[in-house]
Amino acid sequence: MNNLLLPKNGITRNNKGLNKAMDMGDSDIIKQIKDSMGEPATEVQNPHFDQMKLKSLSSDAFPHVRMRRLRKTESLRAMVRENSISANDLIVPVFVEENIDERVAIASMPGVFRETEKTLVKRIKDIAASGVKSVMVFGVSHNKDSIGSDSMNPNGLLARMISTAKNAAPELSIIADVCFCEYTDHGHCGPLCQHGDVDNDRTIENIAMQALVACEAGADIIAPSGMMDGQVSAIRHTLDVTGFSDVPIMAYAAKFASCFYGPFRDAAGCALGKNATVRSDRKSYQLDPANGRQAIRDALLDVQEGADILMVKPGLAYLDILQTLRVKTDLPLAVYQVSGEYAMMRFAAQAGALNYQDAMLESLMAFKRAGADMILTYAGEDVANFLNKGQPF
Ligand SMILES: [Zn+2]
Repeated sequence: MNNLLLPKNGITRNNKGLNKAMDMGDSDIIKQIKDSMGEPATEVQNPHFDQMKLKSLSSDAFPHVRMRRLRKTESLRAMVRENSISANDLIVPVFVEENIDERVAIASMPGVFRETEKTLVKRIKDIAASGVKSVMVFGVSHNKDSIGSDSMNPNGLLARMISTAKNAAPELSIIADVCFCEYTDHGHCGPLCQHGDVDNDRTIENIAMQALVACEAGADIIAPSGMMDGQVSAIRHTLDVTGFSDVPIMAYAAKFASCFYGPFRDAAGCALGKNATVRSDRKSYQLDPANGRQAIRDALLDVQEGADILMVKPGLAYLDILQTLRVKTDLPLAVYQVSGEYAMMRFAAQAGALNYQDAMLESLMAFKRAGADMILTYAGEDVANFLNKGQPF
């Protein structure tokens, strides 16, 4: 019996449908249909009945194939689940402000604080206790100048917070975001040239020095975020000749000029636009949100320059970039769920429009599905705690 005959829809409770099947002459099938139907309660009057005939269906489609079979119970769903989230996947960004006495809540990022250099210790220990394995530290500097020299000072904020974090939880991987926007008085990601744009080649000389300072302070991974051409190779070369050849580079490989960074810039104090003589955006170095192919090309150059991990930033609006990179490279991939993404979920939850936990987990799962191995998220500790309570996936 190659062509199994089954009724198409609710009209099959009509005896006329059964009569039609009987005309086909297969008694087993007729019995099966009849048993499944039971006795019709009432005659269904449908003006289109004549068009609703039993159909012969191929074996690779309904009703032979029913996708709902594997969704029937939680144990079945768990067995066929293609991706999962664990605390091992999560990296928590942490803000550290110098010269303050108490941690400061960041209004645009509910639940996130600027830590003092003292409260950083507890924050790092709490993150480690949740099961998260890695943090990325960002400085909020009170010692800014035109080139961000404090970040190249072995006693500067960058070095101090890395050292404090490492000592607080030596088992954690401390990732140093290396860039200058948190340390320059104009807010750009490197020294400016005469016409007000960032000087690429001076920046990569400096960023190599900054990376070396970070390694000497105890950083386990260096993550250059400035989107300067050649920054990965400049750092790799410098670390290789200074005894840090074993420190991996997580390249911000595809970082877009995105509006979703807004709350971060409040948090890190690096918003542009305060100085009328310099550009008020980062579009001359960060990627154009319209460009997918260019983003892939840029990211793959970082592979050639010696990157060990590639990052896509932001996350949810750039899943296509993540998925394409997953196909094009075997390097581990990171994705940064940025401050705006986090804030949207937090504020939507506060307004009663979304459940924070469910929305966050679904969003992180989308990153895993698109190909991410690791996720930077401000919700990292929350998510680890959700998972510790046995929440689904
Ligand atoms: Zn920057």
